[in-house]
Amino acid sequence: MTRTALFAAGDGDFAEYEAPLHAAFARAGLDVAVVTEAAPDTVDYIIYAPANPLQDFTPFTRCRAVLSLWAGVERIVGNPTLTQPLARMVDPSLTQGMVEYVTGHVLRYHLGLDRPATAWDPVVPPLAQDRRVGFLGLGELGRACAQALAGLGFQVAGWSRSARDVAGIAYHHGAEGLRDVLRSSDILVTLLPDTPATANILNADTLAQLPRGARIVNPGRGTLIEDAALLAALDSGQIAAATLDVFRTEPLPADHPYWVHPRVTVTPHIAAATRPDTASEVIAQNIARVEAGLPLLHEVSRGAGY
Ligand code: NAP
Repeated sequence: MTRTALFAAGDGDFAEYEAPLHAAFARAGLDVAVVTEAAPDTVDYIIYAPANPLQDFTPFTRCRAVLSLWAGVERIVGNPTLTQPLARMVDPSLTQGMVEYVTGHVLRYHLGLDRPATAWDPVVPPLAQDRRVGFLGLGELGRACAQALAGLGFQVAGWSRSARDVAGIAYHHGAEGLRDVLRSSDILVTLLPDTPATANILNADTLAQLPRGARIVNPGRGTLIEDAALLAALDSGQIAAATLDVFRTEPLPADHPYWVHPRVTVTPHIAAATRPDTASEVIAQNIARVEAGLPLLHEVSRGAGY
């Protein structure tokens, strides 16, 4: 029986996704018609990104799952009309993109490439084994980045909500664990989701717990950082530099102080994009699982908000 998947994402996204989705469904042996318009009560699955005007999921009475094209689900998880199961995107190419972004920016700070020499004054950087990198968030993305940096020899520690055990990474959780990771991070990477519990996790108090002169790389979400506190910490020298990919308001307003701060690097939310080829495979895999009566992969916990 043909299933109907409503593609409800950003303008222009369908042109990029149509062929990869058809190819992935064919490989998975699925008979799925992908449409951009349909009577709600005929829709079996919704492939979704919040850039779409669809906000009321109530009429989609037959829909068996909403499959997000985005890893971050803060703009949909709290939608009271969404009663269908929600899966977030975990895409191997997105993960690879994040590993490359984080590794590149950590190495830039580690090697001092953000401060090109203006005089012949050789400052030899320490080896990776003498540099401590901390991660707030050790999920799909944080874990992959932490493992890549541990593989280069860095001392890597991380903090997550639950206790875990991964070779080569010192895991911490809880309030004491957060203090331990902050205290021992020469470079801090934030890869937490945007939830009420993570809002402003980097504030005047937590920034002061980092070693003086620490550097920050934030490809997680803009809400993780209290902007005024970060700017004050940069100006006082407590934080030496920050690379920021995500912001409370996007696009970052033209008059925002981050644009002109000499020790802030702004990147325009490009750390890791969902790639249609690999993401379509993930969508097909999840639809095949639902059809087979198996639980969704990467299902979002409404209670936890991610
Ligand atoms: P994930 O697999 O859900 O991992 C989230 C991590 O954060 C987990 O380790 C989780 O702990 C931890 N966490 C959540 N709430 C916490 C809390 N209150 N206290 C301590 N730890 C907490 O997510 P992901 O796939 O790694 O993605 C992380 C975020 O990256 C996304 O939510 C999105 O905001 C961002 N992102 C950005 C881009 C970009 O281009 N800039 C692209 C994709 C994603 P547990 O392990 O205990 O659950």
